[in-house]
Amino acid sequence: MKTTIIGYPRIGGLRELKFASEKYFRGEITAAELEKTAKEIRLYNLNLQKNSGLDIIPSNDFSFYDGVLDTAFLLNVIPERYTALGLPVLDTYFAAARGYQGEKGDVKALAMKKWYNTNYHYMVPEIDDSTEIKPVGTKPFDLFKEALENGVKTKPVIIGAYTFLKLARYTGTKTASDYADTIANAYTELLSKFGEIGAEWVQIDEPSLVKDMTAEDTALFVSLYKKILAGKKNVKVLVQTYFGDVRDCYNEIGALDFDGIGIDFVEGKRSLDLVKANGFPKDKVLFAGVVNGKNIWRNNYEKTVSVVNELKKYADNIVLNTSCSLLHVPCTLANESKLPESYKKHFAYAAEKLTELAELKNILDADKPAETAEYLRNVSLHSETRAGENPAVKAKVAALTDSDFVRLPAFEEREKIQKARFALPLFPTTTIGSFPQTAEVKAKRSAFRKGELTADEYESFVEKKIAECVELQEEIGLDVLVHGEFERNDMVEYFGECLDGYIFTEKAWVQSYGTRCVKPPVVWGDISRAKPMTVRWSKYAQSLTDKPMKGMLTGPVTILNWSFPREDISLKESAFQIALAIREEVLDLEANGISIIQVDEAALREKLPLRKSDWREDYLDWAIPAFRYVHSGVKPETQIHTHMCYSEFADIIKDIDDMDADVITFEASRSDLTILDVLKANNFRTEVGPGVYDIHSPRVPSKEEIKAAIEKMKARIPVSKLWVNPDCGLKTRGNEETVPSLKNLVAAAKEARSENN
Ligand code: GLN
Ligand code: ZN
Repeated sequence: MKTTIIGYPRIGGLRELKFASEKYFRGEITAAELEKTAKEIRLYNLNLQKNSGLDIIPSNDFSFYDGVLDTAFLLNVIPERYTALGLPVLDTYFAAARGYQGEKGDVKALAMKKWYNTNYHYMVPEIDDSTEIKPVGTKPFDLFKEALENGVKTKPVIIGAYTFLKLARYTGTKTASDYADTIANAYTELLSKFGEIGAEWVQIDEPSLVKDMTAEDTALFVSLYKKILAGKKNVKVLVQTYFGDVRDCYNEIGALDFDGIGIDFVEGKRSLDLVKANGFPKDKVLFAGVVNGKNIWRNNYEKTVSVVNELKKYADNIVLNTSCSLLHVPCTLANESKLPESYKKHFAYAAEKLTELAELKNILDADKPAETAEYLRNVSLHSETRAGENPAVKAKVAALTDSDFVRLPAFEEREKIQKARFALPLFPTTTIGSFPQTAEVKAKRSAFRKGELTADEYESFVEKKIAECVELQEEIGLDVLVHGEFERNDMVEYFGECLDGYIFTEKAWVQSYGTRCVKPPVVWGDISRAKPMTVRWSKYAQSLTDKPMKGMLTGPVTILNWSFPREDISLKESAFQIALAIREEVLDLEANGISIIQVDEAALREKLPLRKSDWREDYLDWAIPAFRYVHSGVKPETQIHTHMCYSEFADIIKDIDDMDADVITFEASRSDLTILDVLKANNFRTEVGPGVYDIHSPRVPSKEEIKAAIEKMKARIPVSKLWVNPDCGLKTRGNEETVPSLKNLVAAAKEARSENN
């Protein structure tokens, strides 16, 4: 039996790539220096995989920003506005990723979207009628050669043609099928090049095959690969799927001329049944995804061995694989110096998953798998009971009844009461919560963590920042203020640290997009609120101003979605436990004079099951109630805001309205406010603040640009329901761009107001 993985994290164990890239963006290092760091990371990962005994090692899983963007650049899908800047290729690439504002011009970044059901984001390729799809890049070949020079014949990884066409955005009149022929030719060419340079296997990622497919989709997929594989020579092609099962095209995949088929047996609810019911093609290799690429718990060898034994009845040739790329887990436990061994022994990050694959291979190759030392050790680990049970919390969740999920009075009544209470101007301006986390803020936090600052010193520093932030917002003229979230490293980790039942890691960074990484906390036991988490900061901030100060919390669904969840407790149970804790905080804030409370559900959409048939039962039926429970106990005059980080919620728009918040702000600028039509068509009831500019990019939007966004909003939504705000928190930005951007925002809102009088 052989082993492989789908991809390895590329940020470096201590986020070396992030720091080098950011230095490059600031002009502190050259492209060659950035490339040097990148190469060091690649070679380190290569050697690690080699030394772990991994049989088939991927290459081209490295990216400076995003793999889909790499594929777009490989295939010449580069919008004119970026090439027109006349920058070197790497800078053109970064311009598409982050936008560009400088002497060569002013362009926005490509749209960014969530990668399937993960917290990773990809750049959306943009195809217009003049796009000519053809291989123009050399990165996959260069990286293959680089690994070869270092003694490893790797398996190059590229995003597949079907998935690429499905993820792209078409700005002209043509659609995916119009590009089928040219993209197929491009991939044929890529494959023959891989054959020429000596690749044995090529992995083509087709995660879009795990989504609901129409007959037309299946036809497109089949026709693409009939063409692509027709010219295949000297190279074996693995079609790799992940994040679910391929129930809509299992037999079609089997009938095509692939040499290997990669199937996810962790998240794919029906994967095993599909194999059992349809068999597996004799001439192909089954790449069996049995090690979870998305979570950090040690693999359960007993379960895995039983799945593989089952698969052996159908497939002669099996390669043990991860369920998806290890991009979604942190690099290595070796950097977790503080976490006690009693926790760590239950964890497997990327590096440890390599060991698990090696152990599983030994176990499965042994005459008596169940008697091997590795197996027995694993069984005993999984039979240990973990500390952290809290029967009182379980009982409270069990006792919830329907009325606990209903806020009274109804929305319209509350809206009237709140309009009278706050007396805000038309187009009230606000921000999403965080203000720039400057180097100073990060340095103080890190000093505090290291014990170089006392709690008093750190807290008075945070108060000073809050005071500055309040003063700044008053000077800018915003209507509803925030305290700036300086006490938080991250909107989920912060709460994780304040909640019982959570444990947190030191270095477990996972890439979220580009250079942005997150450190998800871990659900260890039953969850409860040990103490107030945000009250003192919000109260202090409110004491400094007469304007309303928004209390700022993260909602239960987002906390859960951005944590590493237990695998032996249902998500619903965990979400309700967190909801109990956040509700206590909401009521505490209200009791302490906070009149507006924002409960962010940034990640609500993220874990929406990829298949529509699973939406209600597996997700919405508990996620929406969890949010409703958080705020159902507040007074009518307390205004509840929520925020979401994406605009792609057209298909669950009713459910979003049904969260019964008073105001919702969301990302909309990158998708040109297209969501507004959906809001209008559905008579969206909740007041809305569609983000008027993109905070993921350092460019400063002009007043005119923001005014134009407000005009678009006005044309579709009653003015009495509109708010004006950026599209997300400002923590990743600098003050240099934040202050002028917000000034322009306020000026635009004032102009709109005066025109409305
Ligand atoms: N309140 C959070 C902030 O401003 C929201 C962040 C987010 O939506 N990702 O940082
Ligand atoms: Zn956001």
